[in-house]
Amino acid sequence: MENSSDNKNQKKEFLGIMFECCHVYGRIYKNKIGNAYNGYCPKCMRPIKIKIENGGTSNRFFNAG
Ligand SMILES: [Zn+2]
Repeated sequence: MENSSDNKNQKKEFLGIMFECCHVYGRIYKNKIGNAYNGYCPKCMRPIKIKIENGGTSNRFFNAG
């Protein structure tokens, strides 16, 4: 019955990004579906979303713009 709880097998994957709005480095976390990373700027709470294509992201750095 390992699959009965989906939380246990899920890794908490995150992406480190530079938030250009405040010039701070932060982490955003993969959403439940696994098709994007979602997060907020730690300083101004600006929301950011990075789409994941084909199970990976093509760029190493993202800006919150
Ligand atoms: Zn900010």
